[in-house]
Amino acid sequence: MLTSCALVSWQQAAPMTGIPSSPTLSLPAFPQTGGCQCGQVRYRLTAPPFVLYACHCTSCQKQSGSAFGLSLWVRKNDLHVSGSLSSMQRIAGSGKRVTCEFCPECGTRLFHTRARPGQTLNIRAGSLDETGWLVPAGHIWTRSKQGWVEIPRDALTCETQPENYDALTARWQEMMQNGA
Ligand SMILES: [Zn+2]
Ligand SMILES: [Zn+2]
Repeated sequence: MLTSCALVSWQQAAPMTGIPSSPTLSLPAFPQTGGCQCGQVRYRLTAPPFVLYACHCTSCQKQSGSAFGLSLWVRKNDLHVSGSLSSMQRIAGSGKRVTCEFCPECGTRLFHTRARPGQTLNIRAGSLDETGWLVPAGHIWTRSKQGWVEIPRDALTCETQPENYDALTARWQEMMQNGA
């Protein structure tokens, strides 16, 4: 059974001087571009995303072949894709059905979309051409994170699946204001 838990809000175990209350996010100029490893699929993102977070669930570890997934939520209308995509469906850690899209040539996973029609989708953020500006607003499914991964103690975290993403998107807004 999945249990939802409240996102932990900002806490300071000890006074930390010179450290802002939330990280700074310096958004790049848009559009930003990205694509798969072989270049068959290319995309253009024309507006800033809603939020970026890291997911440490075992499914994201499996999918990425790495330690966690980086989900960048954007409006569908802001994403323009060229090339052909293949897809598969799976049940996410949230219990929702997700359509996963990838390049049929090289297999790079690019987009995750909830099967129910929505206005947003998530880009696997490592597929962007420029990744230097990415700072996750929080970390979810930390219960299954790999032992070596150190999450900053000021980070928003959730042990499993958060009930909603309100705290994450609020943190993302703060981070953008810090960088403005
Ligand atoms: Zn490819
Ligand atoms: Zn995940």
